Amino acid sequence: MVETRDPDCLFCKIAAGELNTPFLVETDDVVAFADIAPQAPTHVLVVPKRHISSASALNGDDAGLLSELVAVANQVAKEQGVDQSGYRILTNVGDDAGQTVHHLHLHVLGGRPLATLG
Ligand code: AMP
Ligand code: ZN
Repeated sequence: MVETRDPDCLFCKIAAGELNTPFLVETDDVVAFADIAPQAPTHVLVVPKRHISSASALNGDDAGLLSELVAVANQVAKEQGVDQSGYRILTNVGDDAGQTVHHLHLHVLGGRPLATLG
């Protein structure tokens, strides 16, 4: 059984509307909101309402949710006007990747050329 809510989790609180964070997109299962410390002109986080610690905790039952997360990321990119110039969708898993909030989130970054990885 997958947890639905972690009482100590920042993104659970944000997704539940408890911090009055403005949502750029909201669906039944997903919210998108601006990153508080943007690394690019467009920097939006796409977050499932259900608590999932990271992408490593996803399984086959979550295929629909993962598809929705990507669809919302693409919608955000379009609404932010970066769909033609290009954007990056990324998610950090664990310490070496720099994951600081242990609730799954997709970063949507764009609006300037982004450094290549590696
Ligand atoms: P990560 O390092 O991949 O776990 O990403 C966590 C992201 O959450 C960082 O980019 C932070 O700037 C962002 N963040 C932390 N607190 C908030 C908040 N209250 N509202 C919006 N974004 C936040
Ligand atoms: Zn959470």
